[in-house]
Amino acid sequence: MTTITRFPPSPTGFMHIGNARTALFNYLFARANKGQFVVRIEDTDRARHSDEAVQVIFNALEWMKLDYDNEPVSQYANRQRHIDVANELLAAGKAYKCYCTPEELEQMREDAKKEGRPVAYDRRWRDRDESEAPEGIEPVIRIKAPLDGSAVVDDEVQGQVTVDNKQLDDFILLRSDGVPTYMLAVVVDDHDMGVTHVIRGDDHLNNTFRQNIIYDALEWNKPVYAHCPLIHGTDGSKFSKRHGSVSVEDYKKEGYLPEAFCNYLLRLGWGHKDEEIIPMDKAIELFSLKGINKAASKFDIKKLENLNAHYIKEADNHRLIDLISPFLKDRHNIIISELGLQRLDAGMDALKDRAKTLVQLADESKFYLVDTPLTFDEGAQKHLTPDSKALLQSMLDTFKDMDGFVHDEIEHKCRNIAQLEADGKLGKVMMPLRAALTGTDKSPSLFEAAEILGQEETIKRLNHAIAYIGSNSVQ
Ligand code: GLU
Repeated sequence: MTTITRFPPSPTGFMHIGNARTALFNYLFARANKGQFVVRIEDTDRARHSDEAVQVIFNALEWMKLDYDNEPVSQYANRQRHIDVANELLAAGKAYKCYCTPEELEQMREDAKKEGRPVAYDRRWRDRDESEAPEGIEPVIRIKAPLDGSAVVDDEVQGQVTVDNKQLDDFILLRSDGVPTYMLAVVVDDHDMGVTHVIRGDDHLNNTFRQNIIYDALEWNKPVYAHCPLIHGTDGSKFSKRHGSVSVEDYKKEGYLPEAFCNYLLRLGWGHKDEEIIPMDKAIELFSLKGINKAASKFDIKKLENLNAHYIKEADNHRLIDLISPFLKDRHNIIISELGLQRLDAGMDALKDRAKTLVQLADESKFYLVDTPLTFDEGAQKHLTPDSKALLQSMLDTFKDMDGFVHDEIEHKCRNIAQLEADGKLGKVMMPLRAALTGTDKSPSLFEAAEILGQEETIKRLNHAIAYIGSNSVQ
């Protein structure tokens, strides 16, 4: 039998990282078993429905490169089928119409609360004749849940979980306005889509017992279940905005690569020995439900950053240049010119070695792309002082006379200046040079950066920095 997994998000307007991890696990399990991964949009909440919210989901899947099989299904489009199944259950005597008024239901809830009973609805219409139905009340359709015994779920992650059937009520399948409930829709759709494995958050475990009642009533095969513990924050509570960014879109905006994000989400809840770096192709080879952690895992941004740094280092330079372009535009209003592109091409190996995020990579690439005169940030200003003016002047004079303006030669000259004028301390020379060439106090090797900028540009920038110090130190 072909393995079919599903991802059935409700379009809430953003894709929570917990949902993203669920999608990833379902995707990996399908691919690991040469099966299918299908998507169903649970769009039955029409009051809050919007196409943009649906698009957010597809954008996230696309970014994470979780390609799915078949056309995505709209749960709302299947509503007639859900209604038909509810009516089938009614006709088979496995469901019934309930004519309780809202007041009666409220009373039952209050009584149950007082007596500490988990089930409020007292099943008063289960065996009552419809001829007793009150006027003017549209009935709901309720399932006949088992009255005694217990229900068992053999969960691939949680193990065997048993619930006393007394805990489960005759829940609603079809509301009085004819709208099917989530409980019914999900079972019918999973069945019709041939879903063999349901991998989802353990906040749905309670629903599983109810959904199994519907499967049993319809005599349908149940899927295999794997309920994964939710993601927690560092304080051990459910991951929320308090702990960090919650939506996939945010991680994209913060400059994470999708492969780093997926690798991190994978490790956050699944493991293979103690391997940390597991790219997608390897994850497909290795993924199994057995590897899913039984305990909730804590989100750790540092680990995500480290993985991101790793994948940035491994990434193709041209891809990185494409990826930082929007950040350069948004953050610095920079469009990469032909010259800028040449410089980035030459400098990217060193730049990407240092970057934890694409934002950092864009920021640190900026100096290759801006025109002189540079503006100096606070860090740079600290090194552009009257004390460093003489050193910058020496560099300027030395660089002007150089024939081959290459990395090794530049280094050699800087070391000489450090020996002669800065007590041998290379840092004393390099920090003002860094400020002059990059406008910041952070950059990869300046010998290389100067070579890439070229002799003329380097001299221009040194001149400007010297003038800047001059204009700033006028008393
Ligand atoms: N639409 C549900 C959710 O987003 C899906 C539940 C399920 O996996 O059955 O939580």
